[in-house]
Amino acid sequence: MSYEKSIQAFSEAVDLMPGGVNSPVRAFKSVNTDPIFMESGKGAIIKDIDGNEYIDYVLSWGPLILGHTHPEVVAAIQEQVAKGASFGAPTLLENKLAQIVIDRVPSVEMVRFVSSGTEATMAALRLARGFTGRDIILKFEGSYHGHGDSLLIKAGSGVATLGLPDSPGVPADIAKNTLTVAYNDIEAVQVVFEKFGQQIAGVIVEPVAGNMGVVPPKPGFLEGLRKVTEENGALLIFDEVMTGFRVDYNCAQGYFGVNPDLTCLGKVVGGGLPVGAFAGKREIMEHIAPAGSVYQAGTLSGNPLAMTAGIETLSRLTPESYEHFKKLGDQLEAGIREAATKYNIPHTVNRAGSMIGLFLTNEEVVDFESAKTSDLAMFAEYFKLMAEEGIYLPPSQFEGLFISTAHTEEHIAKTVQAFHNVFAKLAK
Ligand code: PLP
Repeated sequence: MSYEKSIQAFSEAVDLMPGGVNSPVRAFKSVNTDPIFMESGKGAIIKDIDGNEYIDYVLSWGPLILGHTHPEVVAAIQEQVAKGASFGAPTLLENKLAQIVIDRVPSVEMVRFVSSGTEATMAALRLARGFTGRDIILKFEGSYHGHGDSLLIKAGSGVATLGLPDSPGVPADIAKNTLTVAYNDIEAVQVVFEKFGQQIAGVIVEPVAGNMGVVPPKPGFLEGLRKVTEENGALLIFDEVMTGFRVDYNCAQGYFGVNPDLTCLGKVVGGGLPVGAFAGKREIMEHIAPAGSVYQAGTLSGNPLAMTAGIETLSRLTPESYEHFKKLGDQLEAGIREAATKYNIPHTVNRAGSMIGLFLTNEEVVDFESAKTSDLAMFAEYFKLMAEEGIYLPPSQFEGLFISTAHTEEHIAKTVQAFHNVFAKLAK
């Protein structure tokens, strides 16, 4: 495979944009190679600017659950752009997408649309703080909730210490209001609540962690969070930016049967256009301006093109779509395990519906510490060899693979063959 044009484009990009990209992971730093510049996509297949084709398991980091350029979604967006790209005034499209979200997400009675997942989580935290009159937020190590100041936080040393900024520019005074414990560690959560319970505004959690690779919740973890938040007057916030409409028709909360107070959405809800949302119980959501006093706004919030993409995408997802994901997910999971076992490659495969995480370690992966036991040097080689085989994977160990309705059993069979070819090379 030649990447000549991509290499040239990236050498130009680094002079134009910091690191040559508009979002860090796109620079392929953790796999030690130049990024591949994409040109077009159709269904499960994407094509780069050198003309190489790949089966795509990134799907724009999750949103494209119907695959690329679904003809009816494209037609609807084209029709809308001809009517008007943005009005900064209410449209019927917002009512329609809000109704779909309310119908489909069990805990949601009202929704506010924004333009990204980051905006959704930032606003949800402000709402939780405004509603409870408390400042402290609890999050989980290795979870990513966008780049808001309160959420770019690493743990202090030991359980129940104050958080520290994870990036220059995050004030220590803000970071100290975010506490962090290990994912899946309900005892640590209880310790934090014993110490800070009456100061905690909310707990924000990915109901399936998707930003340390794929790490499902242990049985009882989400239920434990529900109980401890309720007992202490704190809000439970599910960050379903990745899991929403991905893990299940009714999102992860429907799948696990645990209802949060607030839900953050993004990715699939916008079908590939910039949409996020925060949503929840009416009595809490009505604290948002102009119904209430917690301020939040956006020039392009509820944008007609983005709403159209969301409506057209969500209304094409049916319970049968999730059976398709399960069938293909089973096939891919079994194929990866078989190939890795055959060539004696260390592996742990975690799975939640159509989110699949391969860790190059034999350790059980239940949190960020165990995720980090993966062989990152081998991962970089594996990523590059898979691309050579025409399989486009996330260029980071700490991201999952996604399947769309456009993926077929043939795509999966081809991918499994690629795993065999690549693991055979890595085993040498
Ligand atoms: N929350 C989760 C769980 C995410 O995975 C992401 C992005 O990957 C975000 C929030 C931030 O969303 P965005 O990149 O749209 O700002």
